[in-house]
Amino acid sequence: MSETMSATEARIIAEEKRAARAEEEYMTYYLIEGTDHVIEGDSGNSHVLDVQGSKAVDCSCPDREHQGVRCKHMAAYEEWLIDEIQMSCGDTIKL
Ligand SMILES: [Zn+2]
Repeated sequence: MSETMSATEARIIAEEKRAARAEEEYMTYYLIEGTDHVIEGDSGNSHVLDVQGSKAVDCSCPDREHQGVRCKHMAAYEEWLIDEIQMSCGDTIKL
């Protein structure tokens, strides 16, 4: 391993750190009036998930609405269920 870091290496490390931070985001799950699945992120923004069984099919967040990507809220919901965690209103999970 060389002692000096190239700009590319530095950039890769910065990106990895950013990714690690994103993974450590806390999200809180709410079930509103027995039907609406809501995920609230660290930033305090909450987003409504459209859920079909154990699948999250849509989300109201900007990532999903404007870019059409699978967002972290949908991923979080499915991850909870994959781990067979019984979600209750107000539960917080660290991703
Ligand atoms: Zn989302």
